[in-house]
Amino acid sequence: MNKAIIKSILCSALFAMCSSMMAQVATVSSPDGRLKVDLDLRNGQPVYSVSYDEKKMLEESPLGFKSNIGDFSTGLSVREPDPSKVQTTHVEKKYAMTRIKKSQIEYEANVYNFCLKAGEGRRQRQMDIVFYVSNNDIAFRYEIPRHGDTGSIRIMNEETGFRFPMQTTTFMCPQSDAMVGWKRTKPSYEEGYSYDRPLAESKARHGFTFPCLFKVGEDGWVLVSETGNDSRYCGCRLSDLKEGNMYTVDFPMPEENNGNGTIEPAFALPGATPWRTITVGKTLAPIVETTAPWNTLTPKYGAEQNPETGDDEILLRTYPKKEFKFGKSTWSWIVWQDASMNWNDQCAYIDLASQLGYQYILIDAGWDEQLGYKKMEDLIRYAHIKNVDVFLWFSSSGYWNDIVQSPINKMDNSISRKEVMRWMKKNGVKGIKVDFWGGDKQETFRQYEEVFSDAYDNDLMVICRGCTLPRGWEMLYPNYVGSEAVLASENLVFSQGACDKEAKDTSTHPFIRNAVGCMEWGGSFLNRQLGRGNKRGPKRTTTDCHELAQAVLFQNPIQNFAVTPENMLPESEGGAPQVSIDFMKQVPTTWDDTKYVAGYPGQFAVLARQNSGKWYIAGNNASDECDKVLDLSRFVKKGDVVTLYSDKADSEPQRTELKIKDPKKVKVHMLHNGGFVIVK
Ligand code: CA
Repeated sequence: MNKAIIKSILCSALFAMCSSMMAQVATVSSPDGRLKVDLDLRNGQPVYSVSYDEKKMLEESPLGFKSNIGDFSTGLSVREPDPSKVQTTHVEKKYAMTRIKKSQIEYEANVYNFCLKAGEGRRQRQMDIVFYVSNNDIAFRYEIPRHGDTGSIRIMNEETGFRFPMQTTTFMCPQSDAMVGWKRTKPSYEEGYSYDRPLAESKARHGFTFPCLFKVGEDGWVLVSETGNDSRYCGCRLSDLKEGNMYTVDFPMPEENNGNGTIEPAFALPGATPWRTITVGKTLAPIVETTAPWNTLTPKYGAEQNPETGDDEILLRTYPKKEFKFGKSTWSWIVWQDASMNWNDQCAYIDLASQLGYQYILIDAGWDEQLGYKKMEDLIRYAHIKNVDVFLWFSSSGYWNDIVQSPINKMDNSISRKEVMRWMKKNGVKGIKVDFWGGDKQETFRQYEEVFSDAYDNDLMVICRGCTLPRGWEMLYPNYVGSEAVLASENLVFSQGACDKEAKDTSTHPFIRNAVGCMEWGGSFLNRQLGRGNKRGPKRTTTDCHELAQAVLFQNPIQNFAVTPENMLPESEGGAPQVSIDFMKQVPTTWDDTKYVAGYPGQFAVLARQNSGKWYIAGNNASDECDKVLDLSRFVKKGDVVTLYSDKADSEPQRTELKIKDPKKVKVHMLHNGGFVIVK
């Protein structure tokens, strides 16, 4: 494990091992004892339940799976643990991250191997369910050894279930039909959320995409997701409701990826499935602050990966360690759209990035046809003169959608992909944005990993759009930046309806989608109207302070902001307020720490994020105009003078100095669709 300190201690006191006469096999408790997982066998099927502060958060739910080498969901019995494996362990681990909500993570968990077997003698099949239980997170996965000559497995379906108490309500995004929507590109995690909905089926009857948030009455919150899915598995989701209160892990739909590729993932033995993660808390704080997607993973690159085997270390060093620089970017497409793919407009956006001190420009779809490779070399040179680096857009396709936006047929096979990547490296391009991926099958997860890998070899970072949820990829791939996997800012440009609900979205994603992975949103608009020239297109319904807060509330290590050259005009000529421009120049995009302050999904959100010792406390409001009294005592103290960006009555932004009288009771005022930021 990377920089891990693992203590292998037999903690018999933590694990109540019961005799076979008693019902329960084991209880695994968190280090603070508040989170408990009970494990058992019911008629040969492994089951588990979860409680927090003695309140039931998950009722008895099934575990196991069916595979082409045997049924691991029924007819099982408890097995003596292998002598080489410690059944119960306490793990403490410290690790650093450059691209998520925190930079230094301390992780502590109690680990239990639920050792199971089916059959006896030569026909015996073995499987461990490994549980990591930390104070607010559970991660578990299935580990399968090699069985004699059987060195590979195909998982046919997972029984893994999540059975909720009946009073539970849900905050979930349904899975779409496959091969529908824009150029038959769905699913791409762009359906709308429902809020506080009783346990019920989804409209399209395809279940729900990760992560899924549950409110267990007044007892607390549960976030369910998965992590570690790479080329050796598919992406999963939650099924539709079963037996009135249960969801199970579902595999992709056969129609995804144009029907090409299997829905049943396979891997070599010994091997393991991805981790199922369950984050539990009395409030939303553990959800906002969770590091569950990264705690149990190890990076795929780097000599520290496998310290036991000297030979592997020598091999792994053949990947040179590379540093990737994060920051802010402009992109013309988000407001000026397809017509801006020309020399003058791209130069205007390079100049804009330069004026704002941004590190990047993202040159979007159509650059190869409308400018061409030769002219692009000149444009990249122009950007470099202006001290701006370049990201280029690509379609992932391919044979899995009808996309005509170019370049196409570059990222779908290794020969053309490496060719174009070598051209980018030669010309000093720093990253790619790859759009319109084929779905969640293992076939597509292999493509993700191949693109990341070839890009790494060519010093390129990767942003994903029209894509699946990242599942711990910030840990696995050093050059991975972030993924859309959300109904993102592009929809504001397409429809007034999306603008009308922007504030609702902004107060949703910090608690759900963005809690488990970098989110490529592409917003913080300063145009009043989302069309070129600021005089046509859908009308923005949010205040400037709302958009400034969004830059803090949404986390992605490279933020493609929706600022435009017209924002830089004098205010008398329709430019953005200087207060807003100044903020967008200085707001960071990487964070040392993130804390939940207050909020409720779809109503309002207040988070605090820290960069280089400075706290940015940002809030927004989708509800009626209001005063919020916030406990900010973790970030400010009595007598501190902080900078406050807030809504004036006419919704214009103002920057004032605020002297903190009582850090436990700091009053902020927010308009409907407004927001604020405090910088300390
Ligand atoms: Ca999209």
